[in-house]
Amino acid sequence: MIKTVAEIALPVDEVLRIKKRRIIPDGSGNNKKRISIVTGIHGDELEGQYVCFELARRIEENKECLKGIVDIYPAMNPLGIDSITRGIPAFDLDMNRIFPGNAEGNMTELLAANILKDVSGSDMVLDIHASNIYLTEIPQIRINRLNKDELIPLAESCNVDFIWVHESSTVLESTFAYSLNSTGTPCLVVEMGVGMRITKTYGDQLVDGIFNLMHSMGIWTGETKTPRKPIVSENAEDVCFINAAAGGLFIPDVTHWETLEKGDRIGRIIDPLSGKILQNIESPVDGILFTIREYPIVDEGSLIGRLLKKEVMAV
Ligand SMILES: [Zn+2]
Repeated sequence: MIKTVAEIALPVDEVLRIKKRRIIPDGSGNNKKRISIVTGIHGDELEGQYVCFELARRIEENKECLKGIVDIYPAMNPLGIDSITRGIPAFDLDMNRIFPGNAEGNMTELLAANILKDVSGSDMVLDIHASNIYLTEIPQIRINRLNKDELIPLAESCNVDFIWVHESSTVLESTFAYSLNSTGTPCLVVEMGVGMRITKTYGDQLVDGIFNLMHSMGIWTGETKTPRKPIVSENAEDVCFINAAAGGLFIPDVTHWETLEKGDRIGRIIDPLSGKILQNIESPVDGILFTIREYPIVDEGSLIGRLLKKEVMAV
């Protein structure tokens, strides 16, 4: 069943519609728990598109194992997806900064309020993001410290490699996930892959995780795979940011999720005109790269990667 959950009229003759697909068990007498899979809040992040497709395909294949409701929202920002734009194009607005919205407000505030109303009350929500076009992320779940006790055990079912508990900040209070978590609907934020691309292996990994989560909620009785055990980081000092010291072209020497020793070369920043090496970027600590620069052009200060320090991995 496909339903429009929110719509607003655009200036000339068109309508912005946000749709969901609801999959319900055949027959009656089932548990009415509900999981919502949300993606496409940022129009340039496409990794979640494949997850929506593959999850639905696998549910339909063994429909008798479904014992609850699955709501799939593949395109929270459909105009952005269609025009390869991160924000809502006509409004030049980051959609993940407009929640909780306002039913009496302007068009985008109303849109946000209606979306939130539809998703609220789910027993579990996954909000799937895909970094941006500049950085590739290992499949990970990011959790606001305020909700860590409730969300870490749920995130551990999701077959991701890494759980990053971060500090709460005012900026994050206008996100979709914050709005849900602060009003009693548990929402996990997944970050994986890279903007404007689909990494099928990561998508398949997360779909396995979603089935695990559904199994633990009692809404899936089919076979599941044992989830990989994620590394959990709860302290800001566990993570080391690596930034470019010069502008140029970043040429990596390492691969993503590679374990590094202090002093290992992560890559070089080069100048194609003079042929000079502007910076040899070395790992400042022993650790593992969970974020790596994907887009080669860098400015001074651009993020090259994020390393998780080795002490955390050993725990
Ligand atoms: Zn995003």
